[in-house]
Amino acid sequence: MNAPVRYPHVFSELAIGPHRLKNRIIMGSMHTGLEDVPDAAERLAAYFVDRVKGGVGTIITGGIAPHVTGGVGAKLSEPSEVPLHRHVTDAVHAADPDVKICMQILHTGPLAHTPDCVAPSPVKSRIGAYVPRELDDAGIEEMIAAFANCAKLAREAGYDGAEIIGSAGYLISTFLVEKTNQRTDRWGGSWENRMRFPLEVVRRVRVAVGPDFLLIFRISAMDMLQGGLAWDEVVSLAKALEAEGVDVISTHFCWHESFVPTIATMVPRAAFTQVTGRLRKELSIPLITSNRINMPDVAEAVLARGDADLVSMARPMLADPDLVNKAREGREDEINTCIGCNQACLDHTFTRQLTSCLVNARACRETEIVMRPAQPRKRIAVVGAGPAGLAFSTLAAERGHDVTLFDAADEIGGQFNLAKRIPGKEEFHETLRYFRRMIDVHGVTLKLGTRVDAAMLADGGFDEIVIATGIAPRRPDLHGIDHPKAVRYIDVIAGAAQVGRKVAIMGAGGIGFDVAELITHQGTSAALDIDVFAREWGIDFRNHPRGGVTGVEPAVARNDREVTLMQRKATTVGKGLGRTTGWTHRLTLQRRGVRMVGGVEYLRIDDAGLHTLVEGQPVLFDVDTVIVCAGQEPARGLHDDLAAAGIRSHLVGGACEAAELDAKRAIRQATELAMEV
Ligand code: FAD
Ligand code: NAP
Ligand code: SF4
Repeated sequence: MNAPVRYPHVFSELAIGPHRLKNRIIMGSMHTGLEDVPDAAERLAAYFVDRVKGGVGTIITGGIAPHVTGGVGAKLSEPSEVPLHRHVTDAVHAADPDVKICMQILHTGPLAHTPDCVAPSPVKSRIGAYVPRELDDAGIEEMIAAFANCAKLAREAGYDGAEIIGSAGYLISTFLVEKTNQRTDRWGGSWENRMRFPLEVVRRVRVAVGPDFLLIFRISAMDMLQGGLAWDEVVSLAKALEAEGVDVISTHFCWHESFVPTIATMVPRAAFTQVTGRLRKELSIPLITSNRINMPDVAEAVLARGDADLVSMARPMLADPDLVNKAREGREDEINTCIGCNQACLDHTFTRQLTSCLVNARACRETEIVMRPAQPRKRIAVVGAGPAGLAFSTLAAERGHDVTLFDAADEIGGQFNLAKRIPGKEEFHETLRYFRRMIDVHGVTLKLGTRVDAAMLADGGFDEIVIATGIAPRRPDLHGIDHPKAVRYIDVIAGAAQVGRKVAIMGAGGIGFDVAELITHQGTSAALDIDVFAREWGIDFRNHPRGGVTGVEPAVARNDREVTLMQRKATTVGKGLGRTTGWTHRLTLQRRGVRMVGGVEYLRIDDAGLHTLVEGQPVLFDVDTVIVCAGQEPARGLHDDLAAAGIRSHLVGGACEAAELDAKRAIRQATELAMEV
């Protein structure tokens, strides 16, 4: 294959023993929940085959448990469980015999959601539900045998290899770290003893699968734990794994319980690959790096500077199954970029919902949301070019419909044009770039600067009308809401309203938090600068202390604003934020000195400030500005006007239902309608 000029490293082959990887992109392991649905075999096969057709070189499946205590629904410990896997591997190899598919073997140890969970010592994880049962010697032997048996069955099921996950706070990694391994027998104590379990697992797996089965081992190269692994321990583990016959080391950068964000959208792209680069100098086998590598130019740069031999892109494969082909064909501006939001992937995993993707609602629903040519072809008007209107228009046009998209604004994007201004949400620009390109590619007629009314639509000769007019910010019924101190979040984010030094933010939903981030922010966005990010989260890349973290309270840049973020509910402020990212927002604002107050009853706004009752007691917030972030109401006037004129229309996104609306729901609803219309 001739390597395209733009990404010569990405598109070079890699030989590992008898295996030839066709490019350097690996679809990283993600637990999707598809393994647990009734038609798992068909749905998993369709999900992977889409990515194979999209050009990925190597796939690593979601985690499969080797033992009943493994903590993931999908298990491979009995021959009767092989056929499901065989269906998947056959489908992948039929789609492209050159693609390798490796099964991840995952034992979650103390993170398993069962009182029967096991670990080297009875130490409960900060994020675990139960105190694990301490394994005795026979129990440890049973686990090692289970890993070997699982790998052997994976081979029988047609996989090209296996990835053993020895990171993230799962079973294997808990043997390595002193905090979670308090044993005094041969499995604990000295470093040699703590390494014994992973090395024994690898040794026995290698014997079980033979020499030509691709064996990948995932380690925490920087576990982000105080008291975590020291650098020399990481190196010694990797070397010992190499000596035991591991073919590839994959580097991971956290335990799930650590207090450093490692994949969220505020993490700079490729922030951690330098650690893989340092480890690569110590080993002679290939290394995989990962984390926030979401576009081909980022992957190319990582490979070109020698940080890794292979790049794992997991969530980017949910966002765009065709990412690799688009890169190879020079169509990178058509890539639907993963924005690192976690809203439909990891947040779903951790709340036991099926995984999907905010920007691509078809992810993991490949057999349900099927793109069919439009029959008959219709003339469709879409009003509103926010996420809902954009998703509907571009998908309906891709099916072949004749779509005209109107927006009153001079640019597409709706509220995403506000979201992209929040420090840490710079990736939202990519979604708008993608939609701009899709409008061209699929021939949507775009009419910006056009406020649409019912008469225009009635006279337009359209077969279908889709109303995606979004929301209007809620204006609480409060005495003094017209006072000059009270401003709308929209005006603050757009830079149209002045904000004083002392500020009350009324409403602590996602937008209240984003506004607090914006008005307390100082200097370069951490998402754009790895050094700033490292400072703000207490990471020491240069010296790599234990766990890679300094252990001292990080220095967070902040301005001199005094900000109070408040809500009426008495619950913890920020409780409703994303499961896997909410804590980062809360911690950042706390470090910037933002006060968070729940149980507030708003009384009035006047020259003195915001008068309230907090837990029944009068409290005056002596502020210069009250920013109202009190949720939204649907902007449905146009729909109602059409209905009054007897014209039927479809409602999508915020215009349909503003309560708990987010872009995930807006895009999903629009996608489903675009497939039906
Ligand atoms: P909108 O985005 O509101 O778009 C509606 C469009 O309709 C607008 O462009 C408007 O100009 C146009 N319009 C209205 N009436 C007319 C008319 N009569 N004629 C022509 N055009 C008209 N969601 C998330 O999921 N994750 C996040 O991290 C996130 N962060 C956010 C941060 C901020 C600061 C904000 C403000 C929102 C955020 N959201 C986030 C919410 C998300 O942006 C909305 O859920 C989403 O934009 C709703 O999409 P929509 O298409 O329904 O409406
Ligand atoms: P929201 O999450 O519904 O929060 C609205 C806030 O306003 C709540 O704190 C609510 O809490 C308060 N409120 C509601 N009615 C009020 C009233 N009448 N008077 C005073 N306060 C009132 O909505 P949002 O913050 O506007 O966000 C809109 C959507 O965008 C959300 O669905 C959110 O998921 C999405 N978004 C997501 C992110 C993200 O990072 N994932 C970021 C931004 C936005 P009380 O009722 O307790 O006061
Ligand atoms: Fe990426 Fe968000 Fe999609 Fe997850 S939901 S794959 S983080 S864009």
